[in-house]
Amino acid sequence: MYQKGRAWVELNRHHLAHNLEQFKKILSIECEIMPAIKANAYGHGAVLVAKMLQDLGIESFCVASVDEAIELREAGILGQILILSYTSPYRFSELRRYSLTQTVVDCSYAEELNDYGENVEVHIGVDTGMHRLGERSDNIENICKIWECDHLNITGVFSHLCVSDGNSETEREFTLKQISEFNSVVTALHKRGICGFKTHIQGSYGILNYPFLRFDYARPGIALYGAFSTPHDRLLCEVELKPVLSLKARVECVKRLYAGEAAGYGLTYTAKREMKIAAVSIGYADGIPRELSNKGFVLVNGQKAAMIGRICMDQLLIDVSEVSGVSPGDEVVFIGKSGGHEILASDFAYHANTISNEILSRLGNRLERVLI
Ligand SMILES: *Cc1c(COP(=O)(O)O)cnc(C)c1O
Repeated sequence: MYQKGRAWVELNRHHLAHNLEQFKKILSIECEIMPAIKANAYGHGAVLVAKMLQDLGIESFCVASVDEAIELREAGILGQILILSYTSPYRFSELRRYSLTQTVVDCSYAEELNDYGENVEVHIGVDTGMHRLGERSDNIENICKIWECDHLNITGVFSHLCVSDGNSETEREFTLKQISEFNSVVTALHKRGICGFKTHIQGSYGILNYPFLRFDYARPGIALYGAFSTPHDRLLCEVELKPVLSLKARVECVKRLYAGEAAGYGLTYTAKREMKIAAVSIGYADGIPRELSNKGFVLVNGQKAAMIGRICMDQLLIDVSEVSGVSPGDEVVFIGKSGGHEILASDFAYHANTISNEILSRLGNRLERVLI
């Protein structure tokens, strides 16, 4: 058991390896997995996760920004690193210096990047219906023209699905339309003799709900970490994923709260009877949403305890009236297992009115990342 920390994240490398194997089983052997390790690997710790994945044979990664990509390179991550979003022209030289692959966010961006005048490796983003990044799939002529940019080394073309997590009839129809739009772009390029680029469109839910697709790469994020976005996700693909991350802190002190006394900022919680409460060494600066004030629960010594009062920046209070033998230094589990209970990231997020992706990616820098 980890002994030192005030509040920390535990990473289970065996679970990461297990999840990677599950994805390999679903995808064809020709498909290369390009994990999404943006936002500090969804809060897990980008360098730690990338190194584990590299040791597991992964050779391609995707991130959100040029700084995230540079962090990985400087930590010794080799292979392809694709930046999924916009990089400012002021930083084009770093794309070359660090051998990064930049997303072409639309045709005018392709020209701008080409005008930089030095060769840069790119993947072209195609908008098939999400209407975020990418050149519209119906502007096929413009997409073809990108190949006239002499300084762009185009090694990939990709799109992104925006309702692949849903399996209602309309959601599936929309996703299949996105896939067919993407396929038409690829076919149109091939017809013009433009070949030799890789294709990709699936994130976690694209893989789990459309396992029959055969593209060159897949970009799983959330599910590779063994989490689902919400507790209610229904998947088409049967798969057993194991949570990589646990989030823990410590009991700082235990005290009485007498009937009629209130606790915490704003005195929002009042004791109806005499209680035993504990202060815990984690707060909203570490990524516990303030939204969970008087709503969330944790596990202490294998038992459930409710969060009471407002969550503070660095601390919070819990009701341990029913928890036997609580003392300072005890571990408090926010996400993970304790005794026979488990709190999944998606359950934790659900209580806070959000999805696990947001909770995990906002876990603070102050948390130590500990490999177990
Ligand atoms: C974040 C992201 C992914 C990974 O998505 P998950 O749903 O977490 O698997 C894949 N592709 C793009 C373009 C992304 O922005």
